[in-house]
Amino acid sequence: RVTVENVWKTYGKQTVLERINFETAPQSFISLVGPSGCGKSTFLRMLLGDEKPSQGRILVDGVPLQAEPSPDRGVVFQKYSVFPHLTALQNVMLGLELGQSPVLGRLFGKKRRTARDMSREMLKSVGLEAAESKYPAELSGGMQQRLAIAQALVKRPKLLLLDEPFGALDPGIRAEVHEILLALWRETGMTIFMVTHDLSEAFKLGTRVIAFDRRKTRPEELEAYGATITFDLPVMRKIVPPS
Ligand code: ATP
Ligand code: MG
Repeated sequence: RVTVENVWKTYGKQTVLERINFETAPQSFISLVGPSGCGKSTFLRMLLGDEKPSQGRILVDGVPLQAEPSPDRGVVFQKYSVFPHLTALQNVMLGLELGQSPVLGRLFGKKRRTARDMSREMLKSVGLEAAESKYPAELSGGMQQRLAIAQALVKRPKLLLLDEPFGALDPGIRAEVHEILLALWRETGMTIFMVTHDLSEAFKLGTRVIAFDRRKTRPEELEAYGATITFDLPVMRKIVPPS
């Protein structure tokens, strides 16, 4: 469960996000949409702990988010999520160490065999068991994004953050990766935040669609809705002001 309380983000004089308020139900799949530059990636970076809100706070299961990345969170970007000089298996094993404290990292170092087994299992669950020795450049776009998902999920995060993860994929391949992602989501009970420019993707996958819509919204409407307009599925078209 993620709680966002009156979050603002400013860079110098520019206000990127203002008055963001919402709470997710447990096991939500949130699609985040909105015009380019409206602050979607900035918001994901705050959820990741890479950036702090200028004002307000974000809680995960009632606990304020730590400022640094933590094993609670996994992340996938549109590109460059995996390391080109590592094999598929090495990339997933690295996912076990990303965001770990140095102590935990060393613990995992001692248990390399366990780490390898966990990583192989993860590769299998995204259908890449036959590709463990391949380098990213030898994989198709869809396979690379499945690998990125495996890397993000191998440490079983509570929160998965996806920033336009499938934007570069063909529609057919995209549908395949959707199915894999939905299966993992149902299986693990994690909460997912996915940024996308594709509204049909947003509504297909999301249990809730949140639009950051400052630019298109007139000031008096902003006043009424706060900065977020949310569509709670299945009541898709209804605009729900944040409480
Ligand atoms: P897109 O859909 O194009 O990816 P976005 O919604 O993800 O856009 P952001 O990348 O979050 O938008 O950027 C929102 C605004 O914040 C932009 O005007 C951007 O220039 C500004 N911005 C983002 N990061 C920084 C930063 N580190 N320093 C200064 N300004 C920034
Ligand atoms: Mg972005």
